[in-house]
Amino acid sequence: MIKAWYGNREFTKLVNVQGTTRTMVVRTRGMLVLTNQRLLFLSQHGLFGKSYHQTWAISLAEIHGISMGGTLRPFVSIAGERAALYVFHVDKVGKNEFDPLRSLITEQARKRVEEIEAEKKKERVQVQIVVDFSMLKEYMEKGGLVLQNTKCPECNAPIPIPTSGNQVVCQHCGSTVLAQDIFEKIKSLI
Ligand SMILES: [Zn+2]
Repeated sequence: MIKAWYGNREFTKLVNVQGTTRTMVVRTRGMLVLTNQRLLFLSQHGLFGKSYHQTWAISLAEIHGISMGGTLRPFVSIAGERAALYVFHVDKVGKNEFDPLRSLITEQARKRVEEIEAEKKKERVQVQIVVDFSMLKEYMEKGGLVLQNTKCPECNAPIPIPTSGNQVVCQHCGSTVLAQDIFEKIKSLI
């Protein structure tokens, strides 16, 4: 958790009044909470507000904008995906206090988007490296390592390393050893 603000969350609800559906504005008391991944709202329960539970949340990466509205009763409006708007009346946050609140959330959102991008990039790199035995041989030679045998992880029998392909079958127990796995083991040695 990075920061929390007390306030109200405002949302509309469809209600049935004597057979007609109407929109009703509902305000619920609680806390707007900023974490390093999400912005969430914890609704207060009970007369003395001793218990809270999460009634709304948005991933920081899904926040498209934060603005301030209202003159008499300023509110914070958060734009999400598919033009969704979420409204909060945050205690003690008026025109002057709004900018720091927005900066804090947008800065955290920017960091989160960067983090997600970095994770995706890492995944892509990991997927691209498919090691085969000729690559492995070349890699080991560059590192001054000559490895002719490996041990079967299942039965410990020696397995001669082939010169091509990306897997080899243990002649003793029949388990498959991937060039990728040998690579993972030796890369820390080189
Ligand atoms: Zn084996």
